[in-house]
Amino acid sequence: MTALGEWSARTRAHNFARLERETYDVLVVGGGITGAGVAREAALRGLRVALVERRDFAQGTSSRSSKLIHGGLRYLPQGDVGLVREAATERTVLRRLAPHLARPIQMLVPVYSRTGYLTIRAGLFTYDRLAGVSKQERNRMLSREEALALEPLLREEKLYGAGLYYEYLTDDARLVLDTLKAAAALGAVVANYAPVVRLYFEEGRVGGAWVANALAEGEVLVRAHTVVNAAGPWVDEVRALQGGSEQRRLHLTKGIHLILPHERLPVGRCVVMSAADKRSVFAIPHGDSVYLGTTDTDYAGRYDDPPITVEDAEYLLAAANHAFRVEPLSLHDVVGAWAGLRPLLHEEGRKPSEISRKDEIMIGPTGLISVAGGKLTTYRRMAQRILRLVLARLEERGLSLPPPLGDSATSPLSGGEFEGTIESLVESLGTKWQGVHPRVLHRLASLYGSNADWIAGAIIADPILGEETPDGCGLTRAEVLYNVRHEMAMTLQDVLERRTRLFLWDRQNGLPAAAVVAEWMASWLDWTRERTSQELAAYRAHVEDVKTFRPAVADSEGSVVHGGN
Ligand SMILES: Cc1cc2nc3c(=O)[nH]c(=O)nc-3n(C[C@H](O)[C@H](O)[C@H](O)COP(=O)(O)OP(=O)(O)OC[C@H]3O[C@@H](n4cnc5c(N)ncnc54)[C@H](O)[C@@H]3O)c2cc1C
Repeated sequence: MTALGEWSARTRAHNFARLERETYDVLVVGGGITGAGVAREAALRGLRVALVERRDFAQGTSSRSSKLIHGGLRYLPQGDVGLVREAATERTVLRRLAPHLARPIQMLVPVYSRTGYLTIRAGLFTYDRLAGVSKQERNRMLSREEALALEPLLREEKLYGAGLYYEYLTDDARLVLDTLKAAAALGAVVANYAPVVRLYFEEGRVGGAWVANALAEGEVLVRAHTVVNAAGPWVDEVRALQGGSEQRRLHLTKGIHLILPHERLPVGRCVVMSAADKRSVFAIPHGDSVYLGTTDTDYAGRYDDPPITVEDAEYLLAAANHAFRVEPLSLHDVVGAWAGLRPLLHEEGRKPSEISRKDEIMIGPTGLISVAGGKLTTYRRMAQRILRLVLARLEERGLSLPPPLGDSATSPLSGGEFEGTIESLVESLGTKWQGVHPRVLHRLASLYGSNADWIAGAIIADPILGEETPDGCGLTRAEVLYNVRHEMAMTLQDVLERRTRLFLWDRQNGLPAAAVVAEWMASWLDWTRERTSQELAAYRAHVEDVKTFRPAVADSEGSVVHGGN
């Protein structure tokens, strides 16, 4: 059984004490993919790293993406060859570092005219060459008949053919967690529920921050030679903590996704659709669900858990109803949803979908390094650019640099210590842990990669840990113990939403499992009866909130509409 370091509530308490005691080379504010990537990169470089996250890791934008590791095809029309190559290389790197978090998926783009067909063919041909796509994953053009054979539900009228190419599918929140755990294993001191409330200055330069403990009382002062603001949509708020009159730089746009039962839209691969305003949106199959995404609209509401409007949802449903010959899909078919905010840099006069997705680094008057924009796909490259600035700052201050501990392009993420596919991993786990049901092993391998070995081993060592939740989804006591003991899960929502993903992929959003999981967590985290009930109530309210579609104008009077289930 794999030996894993503890990374739990106890570690978190210990880390708060360390944050106060030690001085760091870099303090990272924000535990989304940007912050996690910087923490890992800096830890591999041998630096003393601290990272603090206001709520749970990945609770901001990084659990709310489309979950695609783009090869860069989308940058081709803008002629940005550099970006195409960077995205394509990064996707290959991620597959090496964490095969469970970068799984190839076919993308099918139906075309409805000869001109469209020729344009797509030229684009895919150029892309394969520029991106150095492997032979097995080269694009293919399909005739009308071939397209319909693959996706029989496609609207037939005027269908000319289709383009077929590959993207990789990831699990965004798990990517953040496995990146952070890799950083922690290298010595990074990390805490969730730890908001930066004020910055600390020495002679006008940022020299750390006061960090509150959101689950208890008190604040600690964390001293650091450099501070990186990776606060995603909150980047401007953290920049404002410098005082002075720094202008807002972010332009937030909202993107939503809807989850439907797969049998209501039984596609076999990701199908790209054209929405009413000609934007490309898609339907992606995932287990026994399919998700539709995404929208791109200006946003000015609350940053935590942005609400979904009826208009947002109907936009995606209309695109699917237009693209497929299915019994019309409605809001009542929706079994789950999520909404996220893109932290883009404002560009005067541009519409949401026209704003660049490139990241930008801003150095504040106090030396605060802020980063916004960017993608999950290229997070490692973004982290490298930020690390270069951090190192330059450390050198300026005359601090000597330690020897590096490893290379971020080759050191696996947590759970990435296997080669091959999920299926081959399941097979080897099945041989080793014969008493564990293959269904459970498949679930574990898909979510946790090689760390599934610890969970399966725990079930064999103590059969009580093999107990499953009543919903039949294969969630065991051992898995939740792993989330609590090795993934710093502090609340029921942390377990059900961002670690086990029941919130998304269970038809009932994990509600049937919630009470049992809360009891298990209570026994390990010493929750009182009252706390356990509060956790359960908070989780139920959260599920209800996400599935409540509001009228477009937040304060307008009108009825809300609920998704199915
Ligand atoms: C709808 C949508 C679809 C997308 N699809 C894709 C895709 O398919 N592929 C892709 O590559 N990219 C995609 N992206 C882009 C990608 O998701 C984002 O670029 C990325 O997740 C941003 O990560 P981040 O770490 O910068 O921000 P976040 O994930 O938001 O992280 C910032 C963190 O900082 C924390 N924080 C804020 N203030 C403080 C404070 N004071 N103290 C401590 N912590 C603080 C927040 O709680 C938050 O967790 C998509 C984005 C959206 C919105």
